[in-house]
Amino acid sequence: MDALTPASALASPAEDEAILARLRALAPAIAERAAALDAVESALPEADVAALAEAGLLTAPLPRALGGQGWGSEPAGADSLFEALRLVGRASLPLGRLYEGHVNAIRLVTEHGTPAQRAAAAAAARDGLLFGVWNTERPGIDLRIDAEGILRGGKVLCSGAGLVERALVTGRHNGEGPQQMLLVPLERGTDRAESSEWRVTGMRASATGTVMMEGIAATPEVVLGEPDAYMRQPGFSGGAWRFLAVHLGGLEAVAEALRAHHRRTGRGEDPHQAARFGQVLTAAESARLWVLNAARMAEEEVAEPARIIAYVDLARGAVERAALDVLELAQRSIGLQAFTRANPVERLIRDLATYLRQPAPDRALVGGAAAGLGFAEAVGDMWP
Ligand SMILES: Cc1cc2nc3c(=O)[nH]c(=O)nc-3n(C[C@H](O)[C@H](O)[C@H](O)COP(=O)(O)OP(=O)(O)OC[C@H]3O[C@@H](n4cnc5c(N)ncnc54)[C@H](O)[C@@H]3O)c2cc1C
Repeated sequence: MDALTPASALASPAEDEAILARLRALAPAIAERAAALDAVESALPEADVAALAEAGLLTAPLPRALGGQGWGSEPAGADSLFEALRLVGRASLPLGRLYEGHVNAIRLVTEHGTPAQRAAAAAAARDGLLFGVWNTERPGIDLRIDAEGILRGGKVLCSGAGLVERALVTGRHNGEGPQQMLLVPLERGTDRAESSEWRVTGMRASATGTVMMEGIAATPEVVLGEPDAYMRQPGFSGGAWRFLAVHLGGLEAVAEALRAHHRRTGRGEDPHQAARFGQVLTAAESARLWVLNAARMAEEEVAEPARIIAYVDLARGAVERAALDVLELAQRSIGLQAFTRANPVERLIRDLATYLRQPAPDRALVGGAAAGLGFAEAVGDMWP
């Protein structure tokens, strides 16, 4: 956006469509690069992030008042963000992981930031900087704010390590008490990022690693929002719909690869193959319906928080089940070829199986069950 264009002139359904059309045009090249990036250790998908920036996807999550399209930050952005996450995930799950983190960080900054922090974040997104959300710790590596207001320690499982230039992280004063959000500026290629431990079967190109933030000052520009705002509900649990939309894209990519296999080999009309492919299509559409409903419920806040959280929690189980079914059906239908490096579905399956591992899946399922037990409405009338 040039300096003279009013933000409101760009924020329209037509502009949403234009951004999504650019993304669809980019998708084949992203998918091709995803295969190449998977083949090398510690790859950074820099060209893909630049392509997303060029297509307007890094600024679209900003609220309209800040020159964005409100994707993830305003209720009207729900459907377009759903589509964008699904399309990026379909082209590349590692890139989808990065884009999801970017959207989440922008959402948190615009919801909890001061006017100056919001404006600075908008300018950074316009400059093509990638944001990320890094919350995960492990025994021995956590993030603390010491008595002098200096960061000590770091975070693990940071996607986009070395690529993210605005990291939304959580830390505790002297390692105790409530979680404080911080928006930490980092340099691309920083030697604080270490991804040599990310030796995984899938999601190899998500640049996931440990980032140490030792010695960075927690200045008022860096400290973001109230203590414990990060986990505020329903945004925290309800926001899981975004990674589900990326998973959905990955599931669809596997289903598409299976369809291509059947067309190529002429085996799809065999009754056993046809039955399995029917199950794949059913699983894909079930997942799509769950995630789209979850997106609308969470973003438009059309129900009370407990109901939104319960729905998204149940959607997590539904999408995981659908994806696991599709992986198994694709492997059984394609056979040994699905396990050979030469076949693209091998990587798609590795990426999806890895990315499906998200925090506390069982807690989400039993949480949804407990909420459903308590609602007064009949089972078919529980959800708006
Ligand atoms: C590709 C990828 C990228 C990631 N990028 C980021 C990132 O950028 N930022 C970030 O913060 N994190 C990131 N993560 C980490 C992610 O958010 C989760 O922390 C991680 O995926 C958790 O997976 P897990 O299987 O270990 O989950 P867990 O929650 O440990 O679940 C594993 C199993 O243990 C069970 N379980 C969980 N809690 C308990 C309990 N208390 N008692 C008994 N059983 C329990 C679960 O139900 C499940 O069966 C990433 C993860 C992946 C896979």
